Amino acid sequence: MNIILFGLPGAGKGTQGNILAKVFNLYKISTGDLLRDEINKKGVLVNKIKTVIDKGLLVSDDIINNLVENVLSNKSYYNRLIFDGYPRTMNQAKYLDVLVKKYNQKISYVFNLKVNKDSIIKRFLGRQVCSKCGLIFNEFYYPSTNENHLCDPKFLQKRSDDNEETVRKRFDMYAKETSPILNYYRDQNLLHEVDALIDISLISKEIRRIIHPLET
Ligand SMILES: [Zn+2]
Repeated sequence: MNIILFGLPGAGKGTQGNILAKVFNLYKISTGDLLRDEINKKGVLVNKIKTVIDKGLLVSDDIINNLVENVLSNKSYYNRLIFDGYPRTMNQAKYLDVLVKKYNQKISYVFNLKVNKDSIIKRFLGRQVCSKCGLIFNEFYYPSTNENHLCDPKFLQKRSDDNEETVRKRFDMYAKETSPILNYYRDQNLLHEVDALIDISLISKEIRRIIHPLET
């Protein structure tokens, strides 16, 4: 089976993808990974990709489609892929269908990890990592206290200088981009919406409940 995962940054796509990959012996692929791999192994597209990145442009659908075709045509990944953060455009989604057919595979499940935007923004912005011991806290949901943390609070660091407005804009953009794609899969009865505000292990349990036992 091939699986596609959708969800806002911070919804836990990466975590759930890793769990699924392990449980069902699949390969998780993100476009970021594919681009990095192509650059590292100095593939045929490396110059094109570097030019685009150097100019600060978005990598074109053509390049992404080519990289995805490399993966789908690779027999060791046959019907064993999890796509994380792909497809990002309708063009990519439609071309994925073409490729899947061409290589005699299918998309079995599409999961949308649903989160409430306001809480995910807090989760995202509140995240703090202790630079001394590596523990992770959240100033809103799981603040560092004398009881759960021995280090001085001065070691707590925010992941980035993102402010609420930037994060909100990025999330709105993501929702705008992906909603037609989600509809596209909904129309094909492939889409499963999963509540992703609950505990990581419960989300994973719910996903595994949806995946038909015959597939495994
Ligand atoms: Zn610490």
